[in-house]
Amino acid sequence: MIPYGRQSISDDDIAAVIETLKSDWLTQGPAVPRFEAALCAATGADHAVAVNSATSALHIACLALGLGPGDIAWTVPNTFVASANCALYCGATVDFVDIDPASYNMDTAALEAKLASAEAQGRLPKVLIPVHFGGHSCDMKEIAVLAARYGFHVIEDASHAIGGAYDGGPVGDCRYSDICVFSFHPVKIVTTGEGGAAMTNDPALAEAMRLLRSHGITRDLAVMRGDERGSWVYEQHALGFNYRMTDIAAALGASQMKRLDEFVAKRTALADRYDVLLGNLPVGRPPRRTDRNSAWHLYAINLEAADDNGTLRAHVFEHMRAAGVGVNVHYIPVHFQPYYRALGFRHGEFPGAEKFYARALTLPLFPDLTPDDQDKVVATLKEALA
Ligand SMILES: *Cc1c(COP(=O)(O)O)cnc(C)c1O
Repeated sequence: MIPYGRQSISDDDIAAVIETLKSDWLTQGPAVPRFEAALCAATGADHAVAVNSATSALHIACLALGLGPGDIAWTVPNTFVASANCALYCGATVDFVDIDPASYNMDTAALEAKLASAEAQGRLPKVLIPVHFGGHSCDMKEIAVLAARYGFHVIEDASHAIGGAYDGGPVGDCRYSDICVFSFHPVKIVTTGEGGAAMTNDPALAEAMRLLRSHGITRDLAVMRGDERGSWVYEQHALGFNYRMTDIAAALGASQMKRLDEFVAKRTALADRYDVLLGNLPVGRPPRRTDRNSAWHLYAINLEAADDNGTLRAHVFEHMRAAGVGVNVHYIPVHFQPYYRALGFRHGEFPGAEKFYARALTLPLFPDLTPDDQDKVVATLKEALA
């Protein structure tokens, strides 16, 4: 089976992990700040807080921004459940902004309209979590203007997008957001096995997230509040978690970061080639805009002839899987999930995401995908559509 995504591990990556295994540190140690420095260097952000998953990063990002009971967070339905769950972890309420089927991303006009009516009802969100679907940035400039006007915070869920660019700068520089989150799951652009990071230019947010990543505990004498004195003393100042990244993972991440440009270049070349190979097929290709470069986590096509029930998509999916092509579907709208249905969401509420879902098919894309494999993917898709 040709998988839809796969990590690329080099001999140098393996050597970096082995070196860590032979060192004094297995849990968070010197490799974590090394990895964080590489993330800052690649994005231009001032601070990186590496943690054990993007889900953890989203959770502590929401907490650092003060999200709690009585607050509201908005994200898109066309995402992995973690983009919404992070707000529920904080006791906040979640709602969704529909996507623009042309960009596969949050529809900025829908956002503006929803904000106007939310303001009238006194139900404005405290945090907005736009998701850079497939690695293609949302309209962050427009979102930042709305954030200033309506007074909400912005967390970019850039789980797909490290190595991408927007408006002349790297995704993750936080020019238009408070915090930007990356995932290092093996199917994503860069991997640490499991892992994530939160980028920010705000030192207070960085400090709050560092505290939350490790039990809310500090060893910094300058901020001690209690009566205990001695070099063994640590103090708990917040209800934090054990979200630390291991040094084993960070060593792999630091080594992978040296290959970020190579990964994105390979993914881009394969995406360009898909665009050409699919030229004569009745499928919508992923969006391209001159002011942004995708990191190409996903190459998701839109089966234009498909129905809203997804019958054609199901047929194409099963045909391709049976032929050894590991296509996938991103995403079942979050509000379709039984857990979210139980919170009161209904089918039909976010038609952009629902129409997209019924037609969406993710083709295999990863740095070591060969042109032969890619030809097989397209030939199999043609058969399935015939
Ligand atoms: C993968 C992913 C996450 C979660 O990442 P983990 O590192 O697995 O926790 C969150 N949001 C989106 C959009 C993702 O694709």
